[in-house]
Amino acid sequence: MDNFFYKDIYKVLNFNGIEFENVSENFVSIDKAFGKKLIKVEYNALNEISKKAFEDINFFFQKSHLKKLSTILKDDKASQNDKFVARKLLQNAIIASSSVFPICQDTGTSTIIGEKGNSIITDYDEKEALSRGIAQTYTKKSLRYSQLIPSSLYDETNSKTNLPAQIDLYSGKGDKYKFLFSAKGGGSSNKTFFFTENKSVLNDKNLFELLKTGIRKIGTAACPPYHVGIVVGGTSPEMNLKTLKLATSGALDYLKNQDGSFIAFRDKEMEDKISSFTEEIGMGAQYGGKYFALDNRIIRLTRHGASVFVSIGVGCYAHRNQYGYISENGIFLEKLEKNPAQYLPDEDINFEEPVKIDLNQPMEKICAALSKLKIKTPVLLNGEIIVARDIAHAKIKKIIDNGGNMPDYFKNHPVYYAGPAKIPEGFPSGSFGPTTSARMDSYVLEFQKLMGSMIMIGKGNRSDIVRESCMKNKGFYLGAIGGTAAIVGKESIKKVEVVDFEELGMEAVFKITVHNFPAFLITDDKGNDFFDSFL
Ligand code: SF4
Repeated sequence: MDNFFYKDIYKVLNFNGIEFENVSENFVSIDKAFGKKLIKVEYNALNEISKKAFEDINFFFQKSHLKKLSTILKDDKASQNDKFVARKLLQNAIIASSSVFPICQDTGTSTIIGEKGNSIITDYDEKEALSRGIAQTYTKKSLRYSQLIPSSLYDETNSKTNLPAQIDLYSGKGDKYKFLFSAKGGGSSNKTFFFTENKSVLNDKNLFELLKTGIRKIGTAACPPYHVGIVVGGTSPEMNLKTLKLATSGALDYLKNQDGSFIAFRDKEMEDKISSFTEEIGMGAQYGGKYFALDNRIIRLTRHGASVFVSIGVGCYAHRNQYGYISENGIFLEKLEKNPAQYLPDEDINFEEPVKIDLNQPMEKICAALSKLKIKTPVLLNGEIIVARDIAHAKIKKIIDNGGNMPDYFKNHPVYYAGPAKIPEGFPSGSFGPTTSARMDSYVLEFQKLMGSMIMIGKGNRSDIVRESCMKNKGFYLGAIGGTAAIVGKESIKKVEVVDFEELGMEAVFKITVHNFPAFLITDDKGNDFFDSFL
């Protein structure tokens, strides 16, 4: 048998073309045993590299991601919507690069993949050292704690450190301890689709049909433009999904196109077809256009003869990845872009003049003002908004189910689906972008019947229930620009106060005062929905 098959299917950590910088020369020393040079890596080295990496990736991007966003602005075929969103996302990156407002309010699940060279020695719990670094960063910086610890099958509490992290450590060869650090948000993780297929899908027609259906299902709730990943095959479902995550992070970009000698490869021909398809569907970078995706990777793996696993997933705008390593020379991290402003050209784009909506008036009057507008009209909201997401909605439903009333705050104000990052010192708000609205779809009909949630603000497309409820109950859904949490937190939100369920932390009910908060009219009171033509 070819030696090749004794090796791993692909290299998880490939450092080709990555530029690193030394962040510390401490915590490593040289040792010798059996005439071999060994590198002793102290607990503090692992602690330090993860602390620094999670600080970096929450505020700075890899250059390649910013370059791709900026190409939208130079593309004559990009729509004005594509360009408008790309500009906002680059402006968001500029605000985040001051290290105060994180790129996104969802500062993600912390994920580390490590490969320990066989010359590296340690004598402690490495995952603990790495986890401690994560907790130090999340508790010190204005990040968000998103991890819920179950206390029973149904009850949960927030861990308040963003731990546990997902850490996978592998053994390798050489004198480096290599890492890939990532922070992936819930919105993009939720857009992972997995299919257990069979041999009948392994032809151009059937596979393409399956992928088209899956890609449409992604919708815009995970803040496009996306890095799309598709994996076909895999020795197990877990292998397939692990590969998907690496594909969307760009870690497998070194894989070659099919040439007969690889057991894991990219298929450039299908990538071109998917690329044309993502342009044609017209959803674009959130509000119509060609930039639904910045790129896509299709990876083919080996498989068991009885299974063909196919998965589709995305990396969102908050593409937070950083490589690093520890060697005898110290701790090194990938150089992220500290000056994102260079990717944003000076000239602005012509965009439809937004309509200002005064929220400091009775709900019927706000609804009357929205009722005059066409779908997709840009608006600037001014006044008070209630903020509530998953747990607050469940609690309010429970109150109503038990014979209680819809709270007045839900009747008198629009509701913004969001869960903020911590407030940095000296500012009224932290990063505060929208969360995926579709998770609240099942509450809309019941709440609107009771005059709650009459105007909803969030991100992404929604189900027919919402369109029908808005038509029946004369409600509206407005889409904010997903991924612009730093802009919203720094520029649009003037005041944040907790009004209910304080114990829920970022899932509490807040009242915010906004100035020129930008959004688009997506669903109106007449049965129109902007996304109808795409999905
Ligand atoms: S950019 Fe959007 S999908 Fe990505 S982490 Fe932020 S809110 Fe979630």
